[in-house]
Amino acid sequence: MTRLPDTWIDVAIPLPLYQTFHYKLPPDLINHVTLGSRVLVPFKNRKLLGFVVGFPKEGFPKAKPILEACPESFFSKEKFDLLQWISNHYAAPIGEVIKATVPLLKSKNPKKPKPFLFPKLSYTRPTALNEDQKKVLALLVQALNKKEFSPFLLHGVTGSGKTEIYLSIIEHAIQKQKTAIVLVPEISLTPQLLFRFQTVFPNQIAVLHSGLSQNQRHYEWTKIQAGKALIVLGARSAIFAPLQNLGVIVVDEEHDTSFKQEEKIRYHARNIALVRGQIDGALVILGSATPSLESMFNVTQKKLTYLSLPNRVQNRPLPKIELIPLNQNKTILEPPQIFSKPLLNALQETLHKKEQAILLLNRRGYAPVLLCQSCGYVPKCPHCNVGLTVYLKTNRLLCHYCNQSQSIPKTCKDCEHETLLTLGIGTERVEAELHTLFPDARIDRMDRSSTRKKNSLHRLLKDFSDQKTDILIGTQMLAKGHDFPNVTLVGVVLADTSLNFPDFRAPEQTFQLLTQVAGRSGRGQKPGRVIIQTFHPDHYCFKYAQNHDFLGFYKEELTYRQMANYPPYIKLFNFKIRHPNLLKAKTKIESLAKKIQKIRSQDPQIAVLEVLGPAPAPFSKLQGQYRFHLLVKSPSYALGQRLLKNLLQEEAFFTSSPKIHIDVDPLNLL
Ligand SMILES: [Zn+2]
Ligand SMILES: [Zn+2]
Repeated sequence: MTRLPDTWIDVAIPLPLYQTFHYKLPPDLINHVTLGSRVLVPFKNRKLLGFVVGFPKEGFPKAKPILEACPESFFSKEKFDLLQWISNHYAAPIGEVIKATVPLLKSKNPKKPKPFLFPKLSYTRPTALNEDQKKVLALLVQALNKKEFSPFLLHGVTGSGKTEIYLSIIEHAIQKQKTAIVLVPEISLTPQLLFRFQTVFPNQIAVLHSGLSQNQRHYEWTKIQAGKALIVLGARSAIFAPLQNLGVIVVDEEHDTSFKQEEKIRYHARNIALVRGQIDGALVILGSATPSLESMFNVTQKKLTYLSLPNRVQNRPLPKIELIPLNQNKTILEPPQIFSKPLLNALQETLHKKEQAILLLNRRGYAPVLLCQSCGYVPKCPHCNVGLTVYLKTNRLLCHYCNQSQSIPKTCKDCEHETLLTLGIGTERVEAELHTLFPDARIDRMDRSSTRKKNSLHRLLKDFSDQKTDILIGTQMLAKGHDFPNVTLVGVVLADTSLNFPDFRAPEQTFQLLTQVAGRSGRGQKPGRVIIQTFHPDHYCFKYAQNHDFLGFYKEELTYRQMANYPPYIKLFNFKIRHPNLLKAKTKIESLAKKIQKIRSQDPQIAVLEVLGPAPAPFSKLQGQYRFHLLVKSPSYALGQRLLKNLLQEEAFFTSSPKIHIDVDPLNLL
């Protein structure tokens, strides 16, 4: 590539700095740099590696010359456009965006690591698609042929064959020398999808996820760059894969919150997929049985085209869902009711018929609370302002936020009575109860505690798939896209756990969780049944889940969002501080509030923004850090970003300790 010799360059330094820096190119290096080149520059009293991000037209006589240059470019113009969009949209320093999304290849030929172990399962590809699938595929093929950005929301009920659509459209793309990215919430929880892709596209797949070693990541990255992998499967960061000729991006289970990164660059991979699709002129398919309110809203705004698979494959019925009200009149000191009569009978019947059951309880451990009956004392974590979870098997009290644990005391720390009582239920307690009730049944448990060891998750899923397990109890990990044809019963032990979260998205997330876990039932020849136990049987969320009525839920939930002025009607900007010193954290967030107030009084456009807080976060202290936040509601991105731009003129205020983290479109407000 020939380019006019430039004298000055803009360099992004991978530090938390919002600005880029001007440097001079010595004559002997002029032809050695291009956009995306890595350069060694003097920076304050250090020498740092940075990236060339621009070629300013005007001169900067005082700019220092760069020291060294590596001619290879680490990103294309298209990729840089994407990185710049991320930097602007999420108010993230460009140098950090580059550092987080472009792995720095140390050597040109990374050592070949052990190959990714694709799970070995059984899969026979259906010989033909059904009528619904054919219709959807035809529309997607038509869009692919246009070779321009076409975004779709594929709403397919559980078991409707979305994966076959992904496989088919990607086959079309590959025939046209195009490539594809498939994003899944979590690689380890999607063995079936991986296996299907591996069966249909042997040796054409690269897998990218956070569990890779640096060497593995480099190896996969190089393979993709060299055009040796045409399909990239991976978790959220795979959206940055350096594929050329991108034809299709699939975001499977697009509603899943794991697509949002909660640290460093707080991006949402679903948003990035849409922006990358636009830049690369690709087809983007957001797929889900329970689309996010945001995506469904984007359909009504004509930003996404709606496609629907309203039926299960082979005309299999959706499972029948029964709601069982739990007894609210019990005092908390009575032992909790774990299984209602109907659920107990259903479990018995399932075991008798040699079929399989899944039980969901979104809470791990034996019990969530230890309480002194005499004085009301509840042991809390010394580093976090939260109660400790009881684990009876290991005789520990564990903090779920910092992992610190202690042995369970025999006597109360406050009144010294031996009157400590476990309150409530967790998966470990359900497992213990099941062993008592069904001593001959083969029972397994799947949650973050039981799957910590390497390969334990793989083993657990394989045993269940091979029908070596009768009942699988677990947390929301269970609800992800698993496909076990012999599962005919799904029981939700307590559906209210996620509903009680102090978050405006709690009903949406509960509806999604219930619909997803219910969808694990009756996927094979035999019809399925779902039993949901709840203290709030009249909550609208359960009514719609029971009737498999996503659109009904969507409409009702949307009216509440509008009334309360929450997304998708407005955009949220959250400013967060985490610091070990309470006073410092509080002072900083208060001075941020003052700065925002001042800007509002000077700029009538920004005055329309609604400011909530500053206030302690619902979890006011975690891992020894005090947490404060300030939430801004804006009618548009443009106005919120106008405020950010104004604030970031005083960059040091944000980057100096206690640092202020900016979260645009936050998903987690706890
Ligand atoms: Zn006590
Ligand atoms: Zn803790």
